[in-house]
Amino acid sequence: MKTKEILVEVKSLRLNELQNYCVELGESAFRGKQVFNWIYENLAGDFDEMQNIPADLRTKLKTKAKLNSLKLISTQGSDSTQTIKYLFETADGNKIESVVIPEQNRKTLCLSTQVGCPLDCKFCATGLMGYTRNLTVSEIIDQYLQVSKAIHPDRITNIVYMGMGEPLLNYETTEKSLNILLKDLGNKIGRTRITVSTAGIPHNIVKLADSGLRVKLALSLHSPFEDVRNKIMPINIKYSLNENIEALKYYAKKTKTKIMFEYTMLKGINDREEDLIALKKLCSQLPTKVNIIPCNSIAHMVSGGFSAELEPTPLEKVREFAERLMTKDIFVMLRNTQGDDIAAACGQLAIQTKR
Ligand code: SF4
Repeated sequence: MKTKEILVEVKSLRLNELQNYCVELGESAFRGKQVFNWIYENLAGDFDEMQNIPADLRTKLKTKAKLNSLKLISTQGSDSTQTIKYLFETADGNKIESVVIPEQNRKTLCLSTQVGCPLDCKFCATGLMGYTRNLTVSEIIDQYLQVSKAIHPDRITNIVYMGMGEPLLNYETTEKSLNILLKDLGNKIGRTRITVSTAGIPHNIVKLADSGLRVKLALSLHSPFEDVRNKIMPINIKYSLNENIEALKYYAKKTKTKIMFEYTMLKGINDREEDLIALKKLCSQLPTKVNIIPCNSIAHMVSGGFSAELEPTPLEKVREFAERLMTKDIFVMLRNTQGDDIAAACGQLAIQTKR
């Protein structure tokens, strides 16, 4: 019986792998670079669009490789900000979301790395969806390509791995996609404009530190206390804050970057005097910035259990907390909620039909 040939996914290949692949096909490595440019510079979605590639190579590619694209199902724009949410369908019928957040002269793309998320953070809609599977390199890269096409002639200036899923639980794929978007694209988007956000997977924080990528790293902190974190982020029971802080110190030292602490304000949970004192103490242990996030509306998704107790801290108190946290050594940002009206803000990405 003849076995079916597995097609090579071109968007999962790094530039050198694509060059080697062209050599395997009997062509020069230069052709690999040309194909790469067609995909990333000209945003080609089909081998036939690659006009300066010889016809016989295009034929070989069409029979032996694939240029899989996510299917764009819908886009939703925010009335109050210009945030746009893109809903995509994967080849096997799963739905994922990406978001573009415009700020001054920046366009930040928020990428998903998993279908759903296994971590069940109590303030997050994605966590409620449960976990289906990891995304492939091609599916992560294609979010970038599809959104680049959609916003053309504008271009993506910043990338955050902060959409659906925990990037460091899909480590190898995340690292490869970072290598493509950072190194293979020739620093078009520099390392200081790419942030990976994690709920805290210490051994993979160390791995990322050793990868040489030196991208920015954010920890979804949300409380300086282990017991509170255990409740709002159950992954803390497995990987404690203490272990994560040790890994983050290593990351900061190795990459010479500051760690971003993401801190979503939850009434009575992490906005108390003792939280402020403990957070200041934590910030003194390593080079950090703190991103204070007013909690987005979560009323629509909490039905029972501990999640039902979560309420946003009033905005006035959020501002006061941020001001009091700030010292000459602690840099604090107070983030505007972007895209709350289209459920595209932090913790709100979830596929409606699954909820
Ligand atoms: S906050 Fe992030 S890690 Fe936590 S459940 Fe949501 S997507 Fe997963």
